[in-house]
Amino acid sequence: MIDYRNFYINGAWVAPSTANDYSVINPSNEQVAETISLGTEADTDAAVAAAKEAFWPWAETAVEDRIAALERLLAVYKERSEEMAQAISTEMGAPIDMSRSMQVGAGLGHLQNTIDVLKTFEFSRPLGEHAPGTQVLLEPVGVAALITPWNWPMNQVVLKVAPALGVGCTTVLKPSEVAPLSSMLLADMIDQAEFPAGVFNLVNGDGPGVGTQLSGHPDVDMVSFTGSSRAGTAISKNAADSIKRVALELGGKGANIIFADASEKAVASGVTRCFRNSGQSCNAPTRMLVERERYDEAVAAAKAAAEKTEVNQSETEGRHIGPVVSEVQFNKIQGLIEKGIEEGATLITGGPGRPDGLEEGYFVRPTVFADVDPSMTIAKEEIFGPVLSIMPFDSEAEAIEIANDTTYGLTNYVQTADQEKAQRVARKLRSGMVEINSQPFGAGSPFGGYGQSGNGREGGQWGIEEFLEVKSVAGYNA
Ligand code: NAD
Repeated sequence: MIDYRNFYINGAWVAPSTANDYSVINPSNEQVAETISLGTEADTDAAVAAAKEAFWPWAETAVEDRIAALERLLAVYKERSEEMAQAISTEMGAPIDMSRSMQVGAGLGHLQNTIDVLKTFEFSRPLGEHAPGTQVLLEPVGVAALITPWNWPMNQVVLKVAPALGVGCTTVLKPSEVAPLSSMLLADMIDQAEFPAGVFNLVNGDGPGVGTQLSGHPDVDMVSFTGSSRAGTAISKNAADSIKRVALELGGKGANIIFADASEKAVASGVTRCFRNSGQSCNAPTRMLVERERYDEAVAAAKAAAEKTEVNQSETEGRHIGPVVSEVQFNKIQGLIEKGIEEGATLITGGPGRPDGLEEGYFVRPTVFADVDPSMTIAKEEIFGPVLSIMPFDSEAEAIEIANDTTYGLTNYVQTADQEKAQRVARKLRSGMVEINSQPFGAGSPFGGYGQSGNGREGGQWGIEEFLEVKSVAGYNA
């Protein structure tokens, strides 16, 4: 049984140095689900010291041994997947069936894929035939601080923990204080999988506390962060004094460009994707751009799809969407819906307030705005709720211009029957990812953004490289 007030440091669950209780709220019922502690500097220092101490022995283990440890973790993760699904639904409100499949499945997929890539990854490579004496060694960065958000907890945590540990880094994880339960369960699984003490540590805390202590810590070599652009900026500034490596995975405002020749299902499936996880995905297609000749039809189809979207408690089985994560997010989304109305967008369905029959819990009405102008707040800011903005375009060039008119650049989407056009548009979109006609990304595809969506790439080979230093050695083979 985990005592949720404790932290996992140096291979054991330990009490916080100072009591500092914090309530984790179940967003479906607004009740306290668990009480955790927010760490202080002494806790952060203890975790970093444990990671520093464990670094050399772990870095020097054979990669096969680290893979074996990850495989033990994979087995435990599979065995305890129902516990993980329950933890995620409780802490952040994903409907239980979606937690079981997508939320838990994302962590499982990344763990498996990291293991697969590690098996053939070359940590020592000759520079080339022209320089037979020169070898390039890829070595673990050192102590990595991993700071994660609440929206896809195991997706984001495993994308960092698995490659970091796999290459020989040691780690201090600070999960979101809003949704720490799944990460604490993962810590318990890592303990069960018998990783050496100190290679993985977990300290709960908030941004101004443990988050800031980690990003400025002299013994932390790298910060890998997923979360808001605001926090990404603060972390980068704080890490600059010690020239830490900082890998950032930030927000997004994805465009879904629907050409007139797109599949009949494109609009409905765009609505589903936008509302998935109650709209709380950095890669959600939140701006739907529709070629003008089919614009009215698309608005009607989006209305029908949104009105078919059921909203319900996270513990209820089925294909509905759940609440948003917290009162803070609920209020922010309500404010942005009001702003959309105020700035003159046409409210097609949904709007302010809770859906009928859901008076308790942070439930938001699935909302569609049409006639959104690219200059409006709802077209620019990440809403992070089930809110879609539709706007028309007249030409391919205009669609690309609107799509790229954002400070973000994470994922964009293209729907057309013309494959050449799809490729042409994909190449012009300023984003780290482009999805054409709902084709899924392959396992290990690099995940990351351009611009204010960050500078990191996670997943597969790229996610592994993120935690490596590159060392040239001349005379290695002399
Ligand atoms: P957030 O930035 O508020 O918090 C994320 C994490 O950072 C939390 O652990 C928080 O405690 C910590 N933090 C906050 N301020 C900090 C600071 N000054 N120093 C150090 N740590 C700090 O984000 P959130 O609300 O938890 O998550 C939602 C955001 O995450 C959205 O913007 C979303 O788009 C983004 N996100 C990005 C990706 C991606 O891969 N690009 C994936 C998921 C979510």
